[in-house]
Amino acid sequence: MLDADFFRRWMTATAEAVDREAERLTALDSPIGDADHGSNLQRGFAAVRAALEKEAPDTPGAVLILAGRQLISKVGGASGPLYGTLLRRTGKALGDAAEVSEEQLAEALRAGVSGVMTLGGAAPGDKTMVDALVPAVDALGDGFAAARAAAEEGAVATTPLLARKGRASYLGERSIGHQDPGATSSALLIAALVEAAAAEA
Ligand code: ADP
Ligand code: MG
Repeated sequence: MLDADFFRRWMTATAEAVDREAERLTALDSPIGDADHGSNLQRGFAAVRAALEKEAPDTPGAVLILAGRQLISKVGGASGPLYGTLLRRTGKALGDAAEVSEEQLAEALRAGVSGVMTLGGAAPGDKTMVDALVPAVDALGDGFAAARAAAEEGAVATTPLLARKGRASYLGERSIGHQDPGATSSALLIAALVEAAAAEA
């Protein structure tokens, strides 16, 4: 079972991965965006960490709702409200249980991803974070490592796609040939689940 500590470790591991990869995320956002994705998420996840330390929420749902709220209020770019919605919707779906199963997390994340798709209007294949998140959720039944692999594959597979949503869509055909920054950061978020689970022992 996964408790509030697991979800705190998940958010911390994501913040660390974002710090490590910030330059790469911003570099990916340079040819098909405005070169701020790394700094946007660094600012957002630094706020998530600070809020989690200060408020110490004690259920999985409360951890994710607090994290989502921080991302919505601290990140100016499109990715802030989208990631914020992902975490808040996932958190709400987990309810106020003290512990949740991996199956419950998979189901809740599915609700979160569907919230992202409703808010942003993107479907799989539109070259957005959805292209990493949907395969990750689909693979989650086979465990966190399977979800990580699926998210990474999904992110890489955005390279040949034409962007249909977000800033990159303004480029039309010129968006082809570049990996989507948001799909790349989504793969980091999912990979952090593996780290959170590994730290448990
Ligand atoms: P901005 O585009 O406002 O500068 P960021 O650079 O932080 O915001 O984030 C860009 C990423 O957000 C994109 O790579 C894409 O994955 C994601 N994104 C943008 N618009 C949408 C949307 N409508 N639906 C889903 N994801 C989106
Ligand atoms: Mg940007």
